[in-house]
Amino acid sequence: MSNRPRSAGRQFLQIPGPTPIPDRVLRAIDMPIIDHRGPEFQRLAKRVLEKVKGIFKTQSKVIIFPASGTGGWEAALVNTLSPGDRVLMFESGQFAALWKAMALRLGLKPEFIESDWRIGADPAQIEARLKDDKNHEIKAVCVVHNETASGTTAPLGEIRKVLDKLKHPALFFVDAVSSLGSIDVRQDEWGIDAVIAGSQKGLMLPPGLAFNGVSQKALDAAKVSRFPKSYWAWDDMLANNANGFFPYTPATNLLYGLDVALDLLAEEGYDNVFERHLRHAEATRRAVNAWGLEVLCRDPKYYSPVVTSVLLPAGHDADAFRAVVLENFNMALGAGLGKVAGKVFRIGHVGDTNDLTIVGALGGVEMGLELAGIPHRKGGAQVAMEYLAQQAKKSSQKLAAAE
Ligand SMILES: *Cc1c(COP(=O)(O)O)cnc(C)c1O
Repeated sequence: MSNRPRSAGRQFLQIPGPTPIPDRVLRAIDMPIIDHRGPEFQRLAKRVLEKVKGIFKTQSKVIIFPASGTGGWEAALVNTLSPGDRVLMFESGQFAALWKAMALRLGLKPEFIESDWRIGADPAQIEARLKDDKNHEIKAVCVVHNETASGTTAPLGEIRKVLDKLKHPALFFVDAVSSLGSIDVRQDEWGIDAVIAGSQKGLMLPPGLAFNGVSQKALDAAKVSRFPKSYWAWDDMLANNANGFFPYTPATNLLYGLDVALDLLAEEGYDNVFERHLRHAEATRRAVNAWGLEVLCRDPKYYSPVVTSVLLPAGHDADAFRAVVLENFNMALGAGLGKVAGKVFRIGHVGDTNDLTIVGALGGVEMGLELAGIPHRKGGAQVAMEYLAQQAKKSSQKLAAAE
């Protein structure tokens, strides 16, 4: 037992996932288990498998695995490709690096466009590499949409245009684990062959579900794929899903939660959800600039609506700073990962978050900078408040004009 007193109120969970869970979702999950081979489950599964297509913006199938997002990566690769296939990847950050490591372990040949983690997947560099691939040896282009480690976002529509312009037949795979439900993902319009997602970020659910939104082209590729697969096999899953069932025990209660989380996103309006994330990211960057600190993402084109990675001045340990904030204010900030470990901390502004949560989080960061003795200018939280107040005024004027 700790001899520390209880800390009152909710913890500020400002990591970029898992994210805080809305009360309506928590209540939906808090249900007795039902028979996953019975008619009640069948109705739930059929409803949710249909409803989930909305947030993927697809008319095609969405597969739901009881797994973490990483399982979704593996499923997409082993269902569509064959050992020895070349895949093109862009080093946007730690998650891209992990996806590449998985490709290597599976016996694929990843080509990695190296980068400094300070921009997202760059269409021009992808185009340059694909242009050289005259024999179409590259079978898939794999892009992390929102790179949660570096706080950068890839322009998916532009990357699609590159593939179209070059008439390159590669499959287009997108890791949308931290973007689905926070940043617009248009699977059909952008011709994405597998959208890989997870439950615990923009979808505001506990960890435990992985998604594969799969195009017809991906399903066709699956027919000739030579990777062994069993748990991840799309064909078994789709055959069972057609009747509202799963080939093994599904995460029943997370599906109850998903049903409601999708309603929450639709009730707010997808565009309003995306706009809210952009607003909170802008408020956060304004605070960071006012403090005189540096945002890791170095090109505004790639700024992330979901998470802001902040560089500390040389000689200051970002993990020690995070520990000060956690201890004093019960706020969890994201750690720097991989090659920026200890150098950056991350402010998550993703999921079920409002203006006051962000103001509180930025206030906590500013107080933490003071306590940890990190050189900075004061007033970043104030600057964010002014921006949010301005935006609130604009949106009420807009609403009034529409009435
Ligand atoms: C969180 C995350 C993952 C990994 O998801 P897990 O559920 O931890 O397996 C992959 N990619 C991105 C971009 C993420 O943010």
